[in-house]
Amino acid sequence: MDATLAEVVRRRAATRCEYCQLPEAASCVPFEIDHIISKKHRGPTSGENLALTCFYCNSHKGPNIAGVDPESGALSRLYHPRTDRWDDHFRWNRPVLLGITAVGRATIEVLCINAPDFVALRASLIREGLFPGIARTAGPFGSIS
Ligand SMILES: [Zn+2]
Repeated sequence: MDATLAEVVRRRAATRCEYCQLPEAASCVPFEIDHIISKKHRGPTSGENLALTCFYCNSHKGPNIAGVDPESGALSRLYHPRTDRWDDHFRWNRPVLLGITAVGRATIEVLCINAPDFVALRASLIREGLFPGIARTAGPFGSIS
């Protein structure tokens, strides 16, 4: 991939995973550039089809473009960082990510965004004030001591 294009994607994402919002600075593994619609499904290597992802989200997403909504059992496409608004599909409940649409719920399932170790990592980052967008205040998971 062209280094300039990769830099544009990285800068556009403000160095946060475009799925789980993990800050790149909080990851010990370098972030990756994801083909939102994978090459396998004829997705182009162009800015409109690329997203910055953490290693965890990208490794679980793989070439998937759809998943099952755990609430309805119906097939749903995955979240598309270029054409969807994150806030329309997801909401934080402290370190746990909630899907508020079928797209959001299917994406959380396929990408394993609420795997216990990942939730624990986010809880730790929130406690340290290192997870932008979630304040270090008391919530349903207890107060900060
Ligand atoms: Zn991620």
